[in-house]
Amino acid sequence: MSEQIVCNSCKKRITNKAGTTMFPCPKCAGEEIVRCEHCREIVSRYACSKCGFIGPN
Ligand SMILES: [Zn+2]
Ligand SMILES: [Zn+2]
Repeated sequence: MSEQIVCNSCKKRITNKAGTTMFPCPKCAGEEIVRCEHCREIVSRYACSKCGFIGPN
């Protein structure tokens, strides 16, 4: 298992999946958005590299 999961907002590697959320892009569903617990807490923005959607709204 060498797949690396990286937070979409802070680009940090996810080492502890607790509190991490993953969901498909709300707009195009073409990319899996990953957000770590920290970025959820501070409501950090994420961006889809496929369609350019910027969340969290
Ligand atoms: Zn993060
Ligand atoms: Zn998208």
